[in-house]
Amino acid sequence: MLLHCSPSNCSPDGSDAPWPEPGSWRRQLAGAIRDPRDLCQRLGLDPAYMAGALEGHELFEVRVPEAFAARMRTGDPMDPLLRQVLPLASEADTSPGFVTDPLEEAQHTARRGLIHKYAGRVLLIASPACAVNCRYCFRRHFPYDDNAPSRSQWEDTLNYLRDDSSLREAILSGGDPLAASDRQLAWLVEKLDSIRHLKRLRLHTRLPVVIPDRVDAIMLDWLASTRLQKVMVLHINHANEIDDAVIAACARLKAAGVTLLNQSVILRGVNDDVDSLEALSERLFEAGVLPYYLHAFDPVAGAAHFAVSDETAEALIAELRTRLPGFLMPTLAREIPGEASKTPL
Ligand code: SF4
Repeated sequence: MLLHCSPSNCSPDGSDAPWPEPGSWRRQLAGAIRDPRDLCQRLGLDPAYMAGALEGHELFEVRVPEAFAARMRTGDPMDPLLRQVLPLASEADTSPGFVTDPLEEAQHTARRGLIHKYAGRVLLIASPACAVNCRYCFRRHFPYDDNAPSRSQWEDTLNYLRDDSSLREAILSGGDPLAASDRQLAWLVEKLDSIRHLKRLRLHTRLPVVIPDRVDAIMLDWLASTRLQKVMVLHINHANEIDDAVIAACARLKAAGVTLLNQSVILRGVNDDVDSLEALSERLFEAGVLPYYLHAFDPVAGAAHFAVSDETAEALIAELRTRLPGFLMPTLAREIPGEASKTPL
């Protein structure tokens, strides 16, 4: 049963924003820019960037949907959205302390595709794919091939959840969980729904940001059908990522009863200044999203050029606190392998 009236004639926030055509996100995903030459040409970049972009692409392939590229300034290699996705030759540099698994997740992989680090919640790798490949991603070297459960392996993973009555929350992550098909997700959410000790379903996703049309009536149907409380943690690093289409997607999610939070990463050249962080919090609230975490940079191999020191991040947060009300302040935190929770800085 679809919850909503036809895409063309209503909007959950009462605006004139049209509903996306169901499933159109798949075409947009398939048509994402995957060649660094196309990305450079699309943004009108100096051809001097091409060689480095090709070199970085060899290490971690380019993937940028047009809906995200359209929010970038043309001809500006320092655009904060472009910097997140443009490969650079410096990704081949090795830096002491920058490793392939900075959060030591391999040690917490309890089942295929299941990471159990913290009390009361588990993280499920619901999809190995992403809609956008972020150059700073702490999972850029993650062994997704080893963590892609088959249907029968999913049953083994689900049994792990059934057998642990201390669990309250299942977190769908990836990759990006919303890169999976609605059929797969509806199946998985129904299984989770039947585990009575689970109370919450959380999704960690960037898809509603990079392709807002992902939030269509088909997706909202399975999301709204579960008894589980729903939390979606978006991943937005800069205010320019939030355009009218993202705001409309957030309105559709809120109308389906989803609590919206945001996590960001502090990134050199993207948001490592207090004006950018202030604008991000303000813009998030306009979209109905509360800032949740500002993650200290995780030292992943290939991304040292994004690193911001904890001291700099702490100073930025202290200044941000003088500008914003408490409810718009993200918690600056670092994940320290082996700790029982994230560590606020
Ligand atoms: S969308 Fe998330 S998981 Fe995917 S590359 Fe970006 S940061 Fe990593």
